[in-house]
Amino acid sequence: MFFNLVSFTITTFIAYSALKKFQKKQQKQQPNLNNFEKLSTLGTGAYGRVHLCKYNQNYYAMKVLKKSKIVQFAQVEHTISEKNLLRDLENPFIVKLFWSFKDKYNLYLIQEYVIGGEIFTHLMKAQKFEVSIARFYASEVLLALEFLHQNGIIYRDLKPENVLLDINGHVKLIDFGFAKRINNEREYGYAAEWWAFGIFIYEILLGTPPFCGDSVFETYNLIIKGSLKFPKNFNRDAKIIIKKLLRVNETKRLNNAQDIREEKFFNGIDWDKIYNKEIEAPIRPSVQNSGDTKNYGKYSEEEEVLDSTEEYNDLFEDF
Ligand code: AMP
Repeated sequence: MFFNLVSFTITTFIAYSALKKFQKKQQKQQPNLNNFEKLSTLGTGAYGRVHLCKYNQNYYAMKVLKKSKIVQFAQVEHTISEKNLLRDLENPFIVKLFWSFKDKYNLYLIQEYVIGGEIFTHLMKAQKFEVSIARFYASEVLLALEFLHQNGIIYRDLKPENVLLDINGHVKLIDFGFAKRINNEREYGYAAEWWAFGIFIYEILLGTPPFCGDSVFETYNLIIKGSLKFPKNFNRDAKIIIKKLLRVNETKRLNNAQDIREEKFFNGIDWDKIYNKEIEAPIRPSVQNSGDTKNYGKYSEEEEVLDSTEEYNDLFEDF
């Protein structure tokens, strides 16, 4: 009887301590907005800014979206979907979302800080990438898109500004504001995504997008004509894959990851090694410390204007 009582007391004590430890850990893992120290601006978007911020000695990227702007541009659904999609996704080539918050004026997405800057910035510096460099980035982006498609998601915003480089020079896709979950496998969106992938490969190899008119109308006309120009001596395998990805008729377009991986352009790529980031990246961003922002532009840190948003509160209930 005595031993039973002792063992019961010990078990209860252990369970109680475990529960307390768990609760403490939970509290530690669940910061609130005030715990983040907002530092410099990393970039701007149509609905707000992305700031470097600090919490618990670690750096994060805080995307701040103004509720009033989101309502003004009818983006409520997109922003809620951006949060829900990112929260559920875990992939080496997709930015990680840690926490989300909202207050009276803004929505906040706390993401990992991707220190190496936009691929766009590195492309502008280099003017264009050699085939082996472009192939490396295209391989990592392909795996990210393939992962999204396997999960029924189309990204819909592939461009060099949305592809960042991590500290070792590996790719991270950001900005899921246009991403969409779809149910129908034969959805046209997949083909459109691979078309954008063709544009991406062209752009990083040549430093300019393939269809670029003096006006939106002219650009549109060039797109639907699909007339592509390549410089003399352009890599043959690159030309072939780009042409296949940019076919105007989407039923004739290369439009699934497996077929794309088998194109000659990707000959010699070890996809497992790419997935595991075992291939050394061609550009290793230079940084001094984990909060270094030298790979991002300089922005004026203007005073925040707080718009009245009381009336929108119910619109963002699901955020
Ligand atoms: P977005 O509105 O998500 O497209 O972000 C605007 C800009 O902020 C991007 O083009 C990047 O320059 C920067 N940015 C966004 N997310 C991050 C991040 N996780 N780490 C570092 N910079 C970021």
